[in-house]
Amino acid sequence: MNSTGRIALVTGANKGIGYEIARQLARSGVSVFLGARDAGRGQAAADDLAGQGLDVSFIRIDVCDAASIAAAAAEIDARRGRLDILVNNAGIADYTDGAPGKASLDAVRSELETNFIGALAVTQAMLPLLRKAKAGRIVNMTSSLGSLTLNGDPSWPFYGVRLIGYNASKAALNMLTVQLNAELTVSACPGLVATDLSGHRGDRTPSEAAAFPVRMALLQGQDLKGICQSEQGAIPW
Ligand code: NAP
Repeated sequence: MNSTGRIALVTGANKGIGYEIARQLARSGVSVFLGARDAGRGQAAADDLAGQGLDVSFIRIDVCDAASIAAAAAEIDARRGRLDILVNNAGIADYTDGAPGKASLDAVRSELETNFIGALAVTQAMLPLLRKAKAGRIVNMTSSLGSLTLNGDPSWPFYGVRLIGYNASKAALNMLTVQLNAELTVSACPGLVATDLSGHRGDRTPSEAAAFPVRMALLQGQDLKGICQSEQGAIPW
């Protein structure tokens, strides 16, 4: 598909899956704002991709900092006037999270703050720009760990992964996908991917994992509203 002319913002894109989403979108002809909270890490990642001949520029955005979100929206507006694709990718997992009876409440709070409130805040700030696009698309990077149905299924392989904060944050993010269904939004699950967030568990590389959310971001004309998708098909809420 020729994506030339489309404009994307990927949050948390200085490393991991987000970096690969930025790279693959840019390779498809999309002009990418590579979002990162740390200017040094973000600029280095954007320079790396721009050095490969890709249309990628760094934009500072900390999804937990309202001023940086507002500044990023103003910068995209001033430079491009619209946004075609938003990938809410920035996320954390805190290893002091755990089962409901013993999880650190600070961990739960920070996971909800980054993975849900952060994505909601960025979405609110970018919606006016997405509405200026012909077919704005939001991809929320979720996890099957956010599925209420699977968390209640003892036969599910990850049934034992009791991370009340992380799992609840992804369930809440899925609620954002459902409630935004008028806005062409999809939740995309990349599977278990070897990154810093997962403690490098899983045999999928960030590059393999990015391919699916990138496909979701680039689909045009399909009605993806308010669903949760993975490469293996839909994931139950
Ligand atoms: P990662 O390698 O740890 O990367 C996470 C990214 O998010 C980093 O760029 C990090 O920036 C950024 N970030 C964290 N807090 C932020 C904030 N407040 N503002 C802006 N950026 C922030 O993790 P990943 O595995 O690529 O995860 C990407 C997304 O996929 C997450 O939403 C995660 O929940 C989801 N996911 C991952 C897996 C998996 O198995 N890895 C599975 C399902 C879903 P810094 O470098 O500054 O920390």
